[in-house]
Amino acid sequence: MQKQVFICGCKSGAKISKDRVEKWKSTLDENKIGYTLIEDLCGVAVKNPDALLVFKEHEESILLGCQSRAMEHILAKAGIRACCTNIEKYHMDNECACIVSDWDCKEGKKNTIEYNDDWVSWYPVIDYLRCSSCGKCKEFCLFSVYKTDDFGNVIVDKPENCKDMCPACARTCPEQAIIFSKFKESPIDGGEGEMEVQSSQDVIAQIQKNEDVYKILADRRKSSKIPLLKNQEKLAEQERACCSTNTDEKVEKQKEEIKEDNSDCACNCC
Ligand code: SF4
Ligand code: SF4
Repeated sequence: MQKQVFICGCKSGAKISKDRVEKWKSTLDENKIGYTLIEDLCGVAVKNPDALLVFKEHEESILLGCQSRAMEHILAKAGIRACCTNIEKYHMDNECACIVSDWDCKEGKKNTIEYNDDWVSWYPVIDYLRCSSCGKCKEFCLFSVYKTDDFGNVIVDKPENCKDMCPACARTCPEQAIIFSKFKESPIDGGEGEMEVQSSQDVIAQIQKNEDVYKILADRRKSSKIPLLKNQEKLAEQERACCSTNTDEKVEKQKEEIKEDNSDCACNCC
């Protein structure tokens, strides 16, 4: 079965450099592989999701972009679910030549799915294999990005409300279920990270056995090998305050604390 190739141009926000995208396109050309360029998968998934239904026209596809888990959940947001499609995903940081030589792909013409919106496509997607619907992200976000749907699931309702380059809510998620595909670090960018902490099911089982809840949670946090979790709550507060245009007293106070603290803000807005 010959596969259809899709390549993400990462036009807005540029998680993947233009040089890298061009290198991949040249390699596909050299190998006479036809492809569809999606100018910005993140942006198209929100602004023109129907354009991505093209994935359903092919039994097997290859998608070149960033982190596999990120792309899977971006596509899911546009209604292209992993269970109903067969899409192999590759990070464009990989060397192209050796990978492409193994592919059996369709030759021929090139297509483009354009992205011409001014909006920088920065927003979270939720990995529902990890999310426990605790609602912490929704409570934390000041900009109404999240809401709870009729079934009690927390969903990303208003992605455009999200503040550019601010990953703060992802840091507060106890399950590391929130992905910002254009962020520079894993696992927030959809990289796997090291999920060596106890699963929530394990924790619930321990709590049901009447063990000390606070100790269980403290041990769980301690057992995490993910550097991301260090000082994350504090960093999240700082980033949220930096990105806020809300001038209420609480946020102003947070900003003052940040100045005094002189800490780095990942979104570089202060
Ligand atoms: S972050 Fe990933 S999915 Fe989003 S536009 Fe860039 S390469 Fe594509
Ligand atoms: S904080 Fe994480 S686990 Fe809780 S609802 Fe949000 S995404 Fe799901």
